[in-house]
Amino acid sequence: TRNFFIGGNWKMNGSVSLVKTLVDMLNGASVPAGTEVVVAPPAIYVDRVRQTLKKEIGVAAQNSYVKASGAYTGEISPEQLKDLGIDWVILGHSERREYFKESDEFVGEKTAHALNAGVSVIACIGEKLEERESGETSAVVTRQLKAIADKVSDWTNVVVAYEPVWAIGTGKVATPEQAEEVHATLRKWLQDNVSQEVADKTRIIYGGSVKGSNSAELAKKENIDGFLVGGASLNNDFLTICVAQQ
Ligand code: 13P
Repeated sequence: TRNFFIGGNWKMNGSVSLVKTLVDMLNGASVPAGTEVVVAPPAIYVDRVRQTLKKEIGVAAQNSYVKASGAYTGEISPEQLKDLGIDWVILGHSERREYFKESDEFVGEKTAHALNAGVSVIACIGEKLEERESGETSAVVTRQLKAIADKVSDWTNVVVAYEPVWAIGTGKVATPEQAEEVHATLRKWLQDNVSQEVADKTRIIYGGSVKGSNSAELAKKENIDGFLVGGASLNNDFLTICVAQQ
């Protein structure tokens, strides 16, 4: 069985003051046994969060680069994350693919580099509205997953996040059936193209307008192993989502 996984992606939100509020909230929360919780503050706050957040909750960066160090102005390496005790990174988020032109291949490279540096990866994939409407959902998400699989040999420290772009920040959550269908497709792809063991063990989490009020229904689905939460990770609704599986 797979441990439930809840990620909070704060995106480019927060301030010293909000970070303190959220850390206090999380430090006061009891995380159910068998659920793993990881929050991803903006890079500038990552170290502060790691130093003040209780250790049972993980901290992720929202991006990292493919080199350990060097003349790459503005970038952060997984080795530097490790140095600060940051064990996770979100890679391939649709906002990075869209606004920062990250290709499938680059996301695969970044995933491999982070894993090699000992940083676990929340690898994001997901189709756009027009792709869903033209019946390309499976083709798009398996293409994105393949680009990661092409570069990764050990899946132990990978969580796959299925985030349909049309559901992100729109309040338009995928139905449990819509999400389950894609998650099952992804798991089958892993079974056929990687191994039965990787298919059985890899967490596939859902992201896109997850709230306290819709998380329990989604969590019931066999192939939904948790959530990647944006907006609702910035307030105490996140705590409801953290107990969605109970
Ligand atoms: P929302 O929960 O705000 O829709 O964002 C989802 C997301 O992109 C998490 O990475």
